[in-house]
Amino acid sequence: MTRSVDPFVPIMPGQVGLYACGLTVYNYAHIGNLRTYIFEDILRRALTFFGYQVNHVMNVTDVGHLISDADEGEDKMLLGARRMGQLAWELAEFYWQAFRQDLRHLNILEPHIWCKATDHIPQQIALVQTLEAKGFTYTLEDGVYFDSSKLDDYGKLARLDVAGLQAGARIEMGQKRQPTDFALWKFSPLGQQRDMEWDSPWGVGFPGWHIECSAMALHYLGEQFDIHCGGVDHIPVHHTNEIAQTESATGQKPWVNYWLHGEFLIIAPDESGKDEIKMSKSKDNFLTLAYLEEQGYDPLAYRYFCLTGHYRSPLTFSWSGLDAAANAFNRFKHHILELRGQAQANAPLAEAHFYAFQQAVADDLNMPRALAALWGLLRDAAVPSSSKYATLLAMDAVLGFDVANFAAHEEAVPAEVVALVEERAAARQSRSWGRADELRQQIIALGYSLEDTPTGPKVKRA
Ligand SMILES: [Zn+2]
Repeated sequence: MTRSVDPFVPIMPGQVGLYACGLTVYNYAHIGNLRTYIFEDILRRALTFFGYQVNHVMNVTDVGHLISDADEGEDKMLLGARRMGQLAWELAEFYWQAFRQDLRHLNILEPHIWCKATDHIPQQIALVQTLEAKGFTYTLEDGVYFDSSKLDDYGKLARLDVAGLQAGARIEMGQKRQPTDFALWKFSPLGQQRDMEWDSPWGVGFPGWHIECSAMALHYLGEQFDIHCGGVDHIPVHHTNEIAQTESATGQKPWVNYWLHGEFLIIAPDESGKDEIKMSKSKDNFLTLAYLEEQGYDPLAYRYFCLTGHYRSPLTFSWSGLDAAANAFNRFKHHILELRGQAQANAPLAEAHFYAFQQAVADDLNMPRALAALWGLLRDAAVPSSSKYATLLAMDAVLGFDVANFAAHEEAVPAEVVALVEERAAARQSRSWGRADELRQQIIALGYSLEDTPTGPKVKRA
């Protein structure tokens, strides 16, 4: 809201109410969505690390999210259900469970409270009734709408040019009084039975997407709470409308003290042009975590990749970038497995490195700098191994790589071999084929096999 980094002051000392917009469960999460959930996981872990008790609430959008932000087009759930030949209810359960599996694989902590929109219809209806009683609504033939002209500060989060929108958007408006008005409750289309619809004081239908988040956040976190998160794509419409309707209902109290948004993941056009996968969920073809896993990537390598960028900056995804992150993560894993053998209970922390790490985390979650502090620790020959390991375990409370459970039996590829593989990749890039072949022989001599795949070399113990 302030476009600046502000000190965090909780409403209740020592406690944080945290609401994060969840997935619309009509398809798998794409890796761009997952980048946002990784950022939110780091936020939650960081707050816990600094001593706060966090109450983390996440919704499951299982009804009402229409194809178009302009309150038109079909409900994404019904479209997905038709595609799959299933009921929307079955579809929601399937993709919610798939999403939870992604979270587990990425070692993202599940929210303390999961709330499904379809389990909170009475709360949503009650909120629309409050808005109606206060004169913020009007009814059209297809639904009940919020009248955004009743607010002086509509669009304050996105800093919208409301007058400009007014002038520019006549065509998409339909019957709406202002282009920035939005549906609170949509009526089921005449003569069509939906498998998700409810009675309401206005007629049979279903809630709008925005009212879901307002109603559930109010229900679980109250009329004022600390932090609301989401992706930057939520700012101009979804979060703008959440604020408008909630603050209208509660009497203009500032609803949320801090808004934090994760930036986009941008898919770089593949260097070889072989893999033209779009990020948009409306296409059938988009990158999922399961796809990365099929390609042989450890999901935690994707977590590592995401931490190489600051959450407020766009991050460019490419296979070579992911390979670099996977190599770094492998080296990290190798160090951990080596150091673990020298672990000692009560080993002192490496204070200077740990302090640098904490400073980075506390500075608006600067994870690239936090990772630099981690590598600074690993490279510091003056720090005893037992202290290194103890400090890495302490850092992992924020990083969430689950260092304590790195399995020795998986046996990370030794750093020496990883270095040879990287050198060979560089040799191939510069077309030094003879040198590349020499390096391959050295890798084989160390007992490893090497396979070149479309996504980069794969190394395994032979
Ligand atoms: Zn939301």
